[in-house]
Amino acid sequence: MEFHWEDSRIVFDVHPGVDAWFSTRLGGVSVPPLESLNLSFGVGDDPANVAENRRRILALAGRSLSELVMPRQVHGNHIEWVDQDARGRGALGPGGIDRTDGFLTTETSLVLGMGFADCVPLFMADEAARVVGIFHAGWRGTAAQIQRQAIRQFKAHGIDPGSVLVGIGPAIGPCCYEVDEPVRNAIVAVAGATPLVPKDETHWWLDLALANRIILEKSGVPAEHIVAAPWCTGCRPDLFYSYRIEGPKTGRMGGYICLKSR
Ligand SMILES: [Zn+2]
Repeated sequence: MEFHWEDSRIVFDVHPGVDAWFSTRLGGVSVPPLESLNLSFGVGDDPANVAENRRRILALAGRSLSELVMPRQVHGNHIEWVDQDARGRGALGPGGIDRTDGFLTTETSLVLGMGFADCVPLFMADEAARVVGIFHAGWRGTAAQIQRQAIRQFKAHGIDPGSVLVGIGPAIGPCCYEVDEPVRNAIVAVAGATPLVPKDETHWWLDLALANRIILEKSGVPAEHIVAAPWCTGCRPDLFYSYRIEGPKTGRMGGYICLKSR
């Protein structure tokens, strides 16, 4: 289980029956300042370019827009199960699953996709590859324990947390993520003080990936079932879009997971 580069994307090798990958800003058709693989319709990009970029990032895994489902993310902890009826929802912008920051499926005919620029992408599958899910954990979602809710959903489906596999995708690292006291307190309440390093009297450096790892382990996921991608989205503007470094109108990367048909 590991993250590795494959062409212009980062692949999460989690299980032979699962495809999971994360886009970079490379390999698309968007022009500066959104060069080049912006996947968001909401940041002022040409919609035709965004559609082409989405088509390309799916084609790298042999999948198509008609199989994609995307939510409208709101930094909450609401999770949905989706089935074939959801195919294509949100694939070209409007109509995505509303107010949802994570979803799961048991079906091979769907690709679950979400948008990211610094927030933590959590890819999950069980050891038997019956269920896959993807979750969006910024500091708000982390504090609202979306990862714990995700594990609850696996349990509700009869899957023990001990057999869940997790990949923590590229996100903003503690090197680039300064937070104030309200954010610090929200994280300490759910993950303790370990993910925070003091910067000065009123600011801290936050390791959001570590906070998610701590809560996942407390939720019953074995430490050896969790791997984190080693790249910080803030440190590498040549490879990634970063909300913190470039502002809200920067582009968005995509995280994707699907079951292969067998
Ligand atoms: Zn950094």
